[in-house]
Amino acid sequence: MTLDGALSAQADLHTHTTASDGLLSPAGLVGLAGQRGLSAIAITDHDTVEGVEEALAIPSSGLVVVAGVELSCSLGGVDVHMLGYGFDLTARGLRAVLAERADERRSRAAAIVERLGSLGAAVTMDRVEALAGSGTIGRPHIARALVEAGLATDVGDAFERYLGTGRPAYVERPVLRPDRAIGEIHAAGGSAVLAHPLYSEGYGDFLPGLVECGLDGLEVVYPDHTAETRRSLSILASRYDLIETGGTDFHGDFGRTGKGLGETTISFAVVEQLAERASRRRSIGRGV
Ligand code: AMP
Ligand code: ZN
Ligand code: FE
Ligand code: FE
Repeated sequence: MTLDGALSAQADLHTHTTASDGLLSPAGLVGLAGQRGLSAIAITDHDTVEGVEEALAIPSSGLVVVAGVELSCSLGGVDVHMLGYGFDLTARGLRAVLAERADERRSRAAAIVERLGSLGAAVTMDRVEALAGSGTIGRPHIARALVEAGLATDVGDAFERYLGTGRPAYVERPVLRPDRAIGEIHAAGGSAVLAHPLYSEGYGDFLPGLVECGLDGLEVVYPDHTAETRRSLSILASRYDLIETGGTDFHGDFGRTGKGLGETTISFAVVEQLAERASRRRSIGRGV
């Protein structure tokens, strides 16, 4: 990479594919990332690494694909999303958690569909499963089925009317504690980053606890974060020695954040910082 290239190299470290609730296949996402001139993307599907595996099998186009995952955790009733980066895709413990969570997603989707039926907003589980394809099922698939059936005007409206936290068809999932998520990501040799902190009420209160569990980074750059928010998150990151990461949370549509792939990026150097941190921990773990 030339010096100019290195200075401008940008990464989007939060993206979803059809392996979870994104609309683009891993190949489609990799192609788009190339067109947008990105140097790296992390594929961070919900509770699965199948999209990463598929993307890594695509002949290299110079784009760095970082192994990632987004684990939906909860702490005291608050949703906390934990991003994992640069781990071993074959690590048994993490794979077991992913399999468990994918099953729970399926049961939860069935419970939501049943509740929707009793609310007079009938969609079929067959249709939701067809929209999810072979990927992990999420509320966005149910939201898309509701839109198709004319029961919501768009995905956001479906969340507002039925699916969002505390809305009539909201169903809780079994809890995955963030400390367990961090532990599994570390055991798999990766780094753990708190996703979109602003979506987790009271994050300032529980952040020190996550740092004690070994949290490595904080998602400072995110479409919904104003310059002011970024500044205050950046101060927290420095205080707790956390790596500042960022990305769009791209889902292939206007989704929750309304931003397209690569519209909020961070320096490629962050990819290296994450890898260095994980490598340091691995060597400490071996007592070197
Ligand atoms: P789940 O994984 O089933 O809990 O669903 C969470 C997903 O729904 C996340 O990927 C969010 O991006 C998406 N989501 C959450 N709230 C909204 C919303 N208000 N509008 C659109 N997408 C949403
Ligand atoms: Zn999603
Ligand atoms: Fe998330
Ligand atoms: Fe996400």
